[in-house]
Amino acid sequence: MPHSHASTKPTHHSHAYAGPLDWGLILTGLTLLGLGIASFSTFVLPLPLWALNGALIGAYLAGGVPAALSALRELFGKFRLDIDLLMVVAALAAAAVGGALEGAVLLALFSLSGTLEHRALGKARRAVEALMALRADTALRLSDGEVEEVPAALLQPGDLVVLRPGARVPVDGTLVQGMGEIDESTITGESMPVAKDAGAQLYEATVNLNAVLTMQVSRRLDQSTVARMITLVTEAQGMKAPSERFSDWFGQRYTVAVLLGAVGAYGVSLWLGTPQQQALYQAATLLVAASPCAVVISVPAAILSALSAAARGGVLFKGGAALERLAAVKTFAFDKTGTLTTGRAEVTGVVSLMGEEAGFLRLLAGIEAQSEHPIAGALRREVAKRGHHPILVTDVQTSPSEGITGRDDQGPLWAGNPRMVERMGAALDHVLLADLQASPQTVVYLGREAQVLGAISVADQPRATAKQGIAALRASGVTQIVMMTGDRRAVALRIADQLGIKPEEVHADLLPQDKVALVDQLEKRGSVAFVGDGVNDAAALARADVGIAMGAAGSEVALQAADVALLSEDMARLAAAHRLARRTLRIIRQNLSFAIGAMLVLVTSGLFFHLPLPLAVLGHEGGTLLVVLNGLRLLGDPIRTA
Ligand code: ADP
Ligand code: MG
Repeated sequence: MPHSHASTKPTHHSHAYAGPLDWGLILTGLTLLGLGIASFSTFVLPLPLWALNGALIGAYLAGGVPAALSALRELFGKFRLDIDLLMVVAALAAAAVGGALEGAVLLALFSLSGTLEHRALGKARRAVEALMALRADTALRLSDGEVEEVPAALLQPGDLVVLRPGARVPVDGTLVQGMGEIDESTITGESMPVAKDAGAQLYEATVNLNAVLTMQVSRRLDQSTVARMITLVTEAQGMKAPSERFSDWFGQRYTVAVLLGAVGAYGVSLWLGTPQQQALYQAATLLVAASPCAVVISVPAAILSALSAAARGGVLFKGGAALERLAAVKTFAFDKTGTLTTGRAEVTGVVSLMGEEAGFLRLLAGIEAQSEHPIAGALRREVAKRGHHPILVTDVQTSPSEGITGRDDQGPLWAGNPRMVERMGAALDHVLLADLQASPQTVVYLGREAQVLGAISVADQPRATAKQGIAALRASGVTQIVMMTGDRRAVALRIADQLGIKPEEVHADLLPQDKVALVDQLEKRGSVAFVGDGVNDAAALARADVGIAMGAAGSEVALQAADVALLSEDMARLAAAHRLARRTLRIIRQNLSFAIGAMLVLVTSGLFFHLPLPLAVLGHEGGTLLVVLNGLRLLGDPIRTA
């Protein structure tokens, strides 16, 4: 293995993931150390006073200063009262009434739960950032038979690149020469290598395992799959789940209420004749007991753990909101071509009405040369395999779910499905076409104005995991599975039959707007997720409660419109993601009810039963830790095939 080769060398980014000095962790450690020494001195073996005081002051500084700074920044920067502030005030109040040790316990636990939380939240981000570390710096570009090493960022679509065994694929592209195995685990989470031969898609950051391959660049580095994923997830962090917004909102109001309440309680106690020391002690206890740390952290802890677990399984959510909506979904609607099927169709029949086949195929390959549709790729591969070169076709325009138009030196041309044929006013009455029409396969007709020049049929196969994935969805509580396709009904029914989708749930011959209308109709009966890959699915993806794009294989437009990107080819992960979403919602509910309940108990005891400060501290921080840990359980829930 040429590990020393430049293109396999990790970039300088990777240093960031080896872990720089984690100040949060260090400060938490110092706080705990100070607390430990102070407790030892208080309960086990009295140390000299300077040592005790030093330890306490150390704990207060290490635990309190960062919290105080962040609270002040919130207060003066955004005019927001932060819970950090409550903690610092409570700890100081405790120290003022001789409870310095309790204050230190409070700060230490607060700092500890903050660090834990930070680690959990950082994990989700790192899952994606780690991909950046895997990008190749340079590539071996082939020009005029010479190989030169160039920065990957300079590669342009159309460039040819040589991949040596062990090298990372530098940008997205198509394999043009050679066959071998590719490790795609970096972007799909799939550990089995994938065998690829000419025509297959290669994705940036995957690894060429065992052969010398030549690839043609299809996208620039900044538009690659990995770049798109990174943008997706970083943008996603701003999109908060409804429950997350609730806990934010609640935290804000409540923090103010607690501060006012504690001051009020202090005043009332004084007025009732309580000695000042004791009144302050009670107010501090109340402050701690009533602080909503657990409520505020309960939701993000769960959501971020779940997002991270999902990301590691190749399912990227654009934020917590999508996760929450997915939990409610009862209906899954699937696009067919490229989603339920592989999109790597085989050509099964060619009918040329122009005389010799070669001319027909060259025209067809010419008009499909630019198209991103999976069928177009299949046609181009077949024509190339037969050794024909495409004719130059210009003015190419696609009409989604119908086909494509353009012109050559003899005039306008079109290719597409029966809908396109009809629109062009052509007839399909030729005897040679009859067989194709009867077959349950996708047929593409080529024509010039009102004349059909010929047709080819292609057979697209269901994805290997589609059947299992649909069964798993049903098992996880999805009640309705629907297929929506722009293809003919006969083809749709054949695929549906193989996948266990009921004929009455199959909708064929649809235009993009028909898919939207159907999604609307389904939504009247409950939440709908739409899974699609193509340009023609974008509107439906945007309209559905949850739009799920076949990420790595799908089109840019689909990915933009969707809420979730499925990077793995493994359809069973959809069901796993659905289960994860529902589990997350359950954990959020548990956390919120537990946190609110615990707070009520603590506040009631503080108000009426002289709750001692140490107990309030333990109850409060213990509760916070519990909800964080409960949320972190989701991290151990990686999305895998059931
Ligand atoms: P689906 O909804 O199942 O993903 P599409 O809407 O993408 O299918 O395509 C529907 C039909 O439109 C295809 O089966 C094909 O007949 C025709 N079609 C779409 N794009 C093209 C193209 N570039 N060339 C030829 N036919 C096309
Ligand atoms: Mg499609």
